[in-house]
Amino acid sequence: MKILVINAGSSSLKYQLIDMETESVMAKGLCERIGIDGHLKHTPLVEGKTVFDEDVAMPTHSEAIAAVIDKLTSPQYGVVNSMKEIDAVGHRVVHGGEKFASSVLINDEVMKAIEECTPFAPLHNPANITGINACRAVMGKVPMVAVFDTAFHQTMPGKAYMYALPYQYYLSNGVRRYGFHGTSHRYVSARCAELMGKPIEELKIVTCHMGNGSSLAAIDHGKCVDTSMGFTPLVGLPMGTRCGDLDAGVIQFLMNKYGYGIDEMLNILNKKSGVLGVSGVSSDFRDLDKAAAEGNERAQLALDMFHYWVAKVAGSYVAAMNGVDAIVFTAGVGENSKATRAAIASYFGYLGVKIDDAANSKRGEDVMISTPDSKVKVFVIPTNEELVIARDTRDIVG
Ligand code: AMP
Repeated sequence: MKILVINAGSSSLKYQLIDMETESVMAKGLCERIGIDGHLKHTPLVEGKTVFDEDVAMPTHSEAIAAVIDKLTSPQYGVVNSMKEIDAVGHRVVHGGEKFASSVLINDEVMKAIEECTPFAPLHNPANITGINACRAVMGKVPMVAVFDTAFHQTMPGKAYMYALPYQYYLSNGVRRYGFHGTSHRYVSARCAELMGKPIEELKIVTCHMGNGSSLAAIDHGKCVDTSMGFTPLVGLPMGTRCGDLDAGVIQFLMNKYGYGIDEMLNILNKKSGVLGVSGVSSDFRDLDKAAAEGNERAQLALDMFHYWVAKVAGSYVAAMNGVDAIVFTAGVGENSKATRAAIASYFGYLGVKIDDAANSKRGEDVMISTPDSKVKVFVIPTNEELVIARDTRDIVG
């Protein structure tokens, strides 16, 4: 079975074609500047085929999908002979609200429900919907599955997902913590259990997804019981450019002081805050590491804040689960920054965590970075959201 995985943004579309016999990626690519002019980079991962990296007119997502299919099936760039060899499509959808606690076969009713979740993710869900519609138009009857970023967190109990606001806002408007990065937290927690050789139902795991956006999750016996992002992906840890947790009073204070409108204020909180805002250097942790090493104190402060917040939130999840067996680092920063992992792990002495420096220096593979006698095991597991989407699609389509 061959499954096309699609992650559609407002002006971009990422894809992978995965052969489910071997779970290997046959081709991957990225359409950019959809609706502006259009560019496609298509990379076949089988021998003898060529990379395509050129401008292609993409007035809408439909032309982008058509270009992807054209390249996947082309004699020069392609990896299949015709579209008939693509058995199903799995779509990443950001927000499934309370309607979707798992992945689902797409039909008209599901599309309506995804649209009803749009107020919760006004930038992302419309782009995902556009991508699905374009695919359905170009690919006809090929079965399609929606996999939601929020679904894995739907097992959180009310005490974790409720905000202490008047209850009517939850009842009438669905105002609550939803959480994001669910597909990543689900993948790395399952993989962690595999690496430990134990059923996930016997484990307490804290997963730390640390990339441009960052979130932690508490996974108790295989079920998510808490996560740090909320109603939107703005809260929890300080991130690349997002502020993380913030006293709402600060918003009122700054709006009054500087005359900001709410859109301008939210733009500051989403795009100009986090480690970028504190350091004044960059949102990229590589730049921060370099600046801090050169003596930039604000870069060091931003890094210190990030480490502190990860350790603090992880500690709160250890309390929530009454213990922890494993801590997992993943995503761009978690997978690549040895220094970040070591700095965060230095807070875990009370858990009996000991880090093996040689193991912590490895990159690009699943690795246990704690010593054999460490009471709590610590892992680096490269995340693979596309594979989860492909597996769910296979399981649902049959
Ligand atoms: P993601 O959102 O998961 O793609 O992660 C992207 C982020 O990973 C970048 O913004 C960088 O801050 C971070 N990153 C990637 N490589 C490294 C590295 N070698 N050291 C530190 N941070 C890194």
